[in-house]
Amino acid sequence: MADPQGPAIAFDGVTKRFGEGAPAVDGVSLAIAGGTFVALVGTSGSGKSTLLKTINRLVVPSAGRVTIDGVDVAAGPAPALRRRIGYVFQEIGLFPHMTVAENVAIGLRIAGRADAPVEALLEQVELPPALAGRMPGQLSGGQRQRVGIARALAPGGRLLLLDEAFGALDPVTRDALGRSIRALHDRLGLTTILVTHDMAEALLLADRVLVMKAGRIVADETPAALLSGRGGDAAQALVAVPRDQAERLRERTP
Ligand code: ADP
Ligand code: MG
Repeated sequence: MADPQGPAIAFDGVTKRFGEGAPAVDGVSLAIAGGTFVALVGTSGSGKSTLLKTINRLVVPSAGRVTIDGVDVAAGPAPALRRRIGYVFQEIGLFPHMTVAENVAIGLRIAGRADAPVEALLEQVELPPALAGRMPGQLSGGQRQRVGIARALAPGGRLLLLDEAFGALDPVTRDALGRSIRALHDRLGLTTILVTHDMAEALLLADRVLVMKAGRIVADETPAALLSGRGGDAAQALVAVPRDQAERLRERTP
């Protein structure tokens, strides 16, 4: 593999306004080292998706800039940028009239890598090669998201952006997929940014947790630091949710 790890990302004074009133993203500056698994956490409407989309230019900042390995994302054509970035969201939208193999191959074709074996890509996301001939409607929700991830990574990019990508899944499937993605991140040496409203998921999967509130990053901590009480009120309010649930479960255990 060419690079030892995925690319570095930097936000430099990034603000996004959609109209009058408070900006959706408000002056975010931070650097993410290559190879980091970052979770971006916050309540609904806090600006997570908007900030994430400034990386692949689905959102253009009103002010500030975003760089990947020091290069402004605005520098070249958007399609070339997006080929290097795997982007997976809640309803990934596989083409329903195409097989699993054809769906993954779409990712390869746009990258001019039509020779790369689809089976190897399915194996990366822990799907058996036998699924290659199935239609998306014949897969479970978790399998569909795995195909989406295989397609997103097919062009060979080392940056993976996940926006509530597990949102529609049951808790067991969600947990398994989260672990698979963390393993994939480590195996391929990716830089991963996982947007989630679930602090437990963030604490269990990420190296670094960013907490967003009203367009700003209000906490930037390791899971260990958050679990030991650091990060401030907004972060601790989110940490309290799974902790209280675990405590209540313990109390009810006979
Ligand atoms: P999150 O992903 O944390 O739930 P979003 O980034 O989607 O939050 O939204 C942040 C804020 O920006 C919200 O108030 C939302 O209504 C607003 N917003 C997001 N996208 C648009 C858009 N395309 N047009 C207008 N307002 C938007
Ligand atoms: Mg969102």
